[in-house]
Amino acid sequence: MNSFASPQTLVDLPFSLSADDLYSRVFEAILEQRLHPGSRMTEDSLGQTFGARRSEVRGVLTRLSHQQIIILRPNHRPRVAAMEAEQTRQTLHARRLAEITLVRLACQQPQPDHLARLHAIIERERHCSTPGRALRLSGEFHLELADMAGNAPLAHFLGSLVPLTSLAIAQFDAQDEDYCDWQVHQGILDAVEQQEMAMAVSMLGQHLNHLEGMLLNALRQQRVAM
Ligand SMILES: [Zn+2]
Repeated sequence: MNSFASPQTLVDLPFSLSADDLYSRVFEAILEQRLHPGSRMTEDSLGQTFGARRSEVRGVLTRLSHQQIIILRPNHRPRVAAMEAEQTRQTLHARRLAEITLVRLACQQPQPDHLARLHAIIERERHCSTPGRALRLSGEFHLELADMAGNAPLAHFLGSLVPLTSLAIAQFDAQDEDYCDWQVHQGILDAVEQQEMAMAVSMLGQHLNHLEGMLLNALRQQRVAM
């Protein structure tokens, strides 16, 4: 069974997309469940759907597989990951441990180029009205903040957790209006920019508490409904 939406619902592309744009569109389709958790695809079908060449699609699938959003296995068609409850709990826990440390490090060395990129992401979040894009952009804020910390292995580790959190939010329908509010991100960024470490850690901690509460609540409701 072909479980993803018909090409007509997805194609709105005139011409060739950049690799980043194609990645964004495929990831957003997953986050909006136009490509469902657990569904399989081929490079050709994705290429047709998104108006892209096979080689371009392959690059995006590889990138998404590094983020564990797409599962690639030899002799199997690529598959969209499906989060499980325990995996979600562990991901959130690991994310908290890593991200609190990263924001402390970021406060020690806020760099103008990173700060500019973070402000630009918030600006895009402010004007975003598409759920999948909002979810992806909010993840990008956290990843860009992690990059500023100057610890590549730890930032890489967070890079394996943030997309999975976004996938879990989409899959368990845990998205509410202020799940990752741009104003909250603005507050965190202001604190980092002013090097107010205690404030930045406190705001990020509250933000992650909110996210965790929302997701765990959605998981509980799902269990009750089952
Ligand atoms: Zn956030």
